[in-house]
Amino acid sequence: MALTTAGTAACAKCKFFEAEASAELGLCRYNPPISQPSGDTAGVWPKVEASDWCGHFEPATA
Ligand code: SF4
Repeated sequence: MALTTAGTAACAKCKFFEAEASAELGLCRYNPPISQPSGDTAGVWPKVEASDWCGHFEPATA
């Protein structure tokens, strides 16, 4: 069964995506940072590809 979001959803078009300089990668801001290596370092935002997507996709507004 084909997913209805396949072909229309993309991280680059999602309101939770924060593009980085490469434009091919960005940070997903849907969830809080994860995987703090130690108490002295900041958490890590998941890095995703602009062409990827997940079930939390929500279209970005202008
Ligand atoms: S992983 Fe999901 S929530 Fe995060 S930017 Fe991509 S589509 Fe949006």
